[in-house]
Amino acid sequence: MSRPAGPVTPAGAPLPPGTPLIEVRGLCVDYGLGPGAVHAVIDADLTLTSGSVLGLAGESGSGKSTLAYGITRLLRSPGVITGGQVLLHRPAPVDLLAATERELRDLRWSTIAVVMQSAMHALNPVISVGAQLTDVLRAHVRRMGAPGRRRRAGELLELVGIPADALARYPHQLSGGMRQRVMIAMALALDPAVVIMDEPTTALDVVTQREILTELTRLQRQFGFAVLFITHDLSLLVELADSIAVMYAGRLVERAEAAGLYRAPRHPYTLGLLRSFPPLHGERRELTGIPGSPPDLRTPPAGCAFHPRCGYAMDICRSQPPPAVGLGPAGRRTAACWLQDGTRQVPAELGVPEAGVPAGPPVVAPARPVPEATGSAS
Ligand code: SF4
Repeated sequence: MSRPAGPVTPAGAPLPPGTPLIEVRGLCVDYGLGPGAVHAVIDADLTLTSGSVLGLAGESGSGKSTLAYGITRLLRSPGVITGGQVLLHRPAPVDLLAATERELRDLRWSTIAVVMQSAMHALNPVISVGAQLTDVLRAHVRRMGAPGRRRRAGELLELVGIPADALARYPHQLSGGMRQRVMIAMALALDPAVVIMDEPTTALDVVTQREILTELTRLQRQFGFAVLFITHDLSLLVELADSIAVMYAGRLVERAEAAGLYRAPRHPYTLGLLRSFPPLHGERRELTGIPGSPPDLRTPPAGCAFHPRCGYAMDICRSQPPPAVGLGPAGRRTAACWLQDGTRQVPAELGVPEAGVPAGPPVVAPARPVPEATGSAS
């Protein structure tokens, strides 16, 4: 890991921070086909820029992992991508949804790496950690010989705070935190430009979680890869991420830079998530949570999907989907809520739209033409 901070172009020059690496446009993912299909991701738009951490938050079943696996085409059946684009800009511009399986294989690990939710399930229990790390190198770096792979595997372990002599150990001989570190080491093996992390610390105790996040932040700053970090814990993202997208019932309901979202959430669901977890730092606050449960996506509520749980719901919320209102410079900040359409009194605990920013079109799915379903097995 000797390259300078920032992902590297084929010519070797670091990308300027803030350059789009992945642009998700109108991504739609269903489970099943036909009239009974469940719309798990609906018209999602996201941009992940070079060297940044984008957090994706929401309760279980909100569609976060489906969105991430849709981006990487790692969905399992009956998951089907039914529309949209996923533009990857490095090493050469490509729409991942139109890429061949061979192209995808070349890009996974080397450009986009994924850290799965449960390290115990992601690691092979009957193969040593060292063999699993060297397998990745053997498959993708053909010019590297066995001694080089072994040396590199040891370096990777040390990079995540594990002594190199742990290479001979099997996953069950490591703690949960160490296994998750091994997964991170594996993800970084080929210096990817993007690492997608799906709830990487959820199964860990708070102290281990803190240690791993500190480690991750250090590595991200050192090597400059971009991160898409998925979690239900919005408080954690406020500390870790540069920007945050909040998902509910398959839709992105708010996007904003992290500090602004924490100071003044503009969607009631974001406010509810913030009130569901204690902050990792700062003053204690009362945890009130969110009443009820996420909807059954086979029979989603009419209007705003959050209305049965929303303390601010109005008549219009029960019948009409809210507009996606662009807020802030260049519309970077959005919230899909009738309270934010510029015509209503916004409760004091929610942020308000900036003057002069027009409401967008109603949030209806899918807004773009739907191409033929894209195969997703991997
Ligand atoms: Fe609540 Fe209505 Fe806003 Fe939905 S649109 S979050 S129900 S106020």
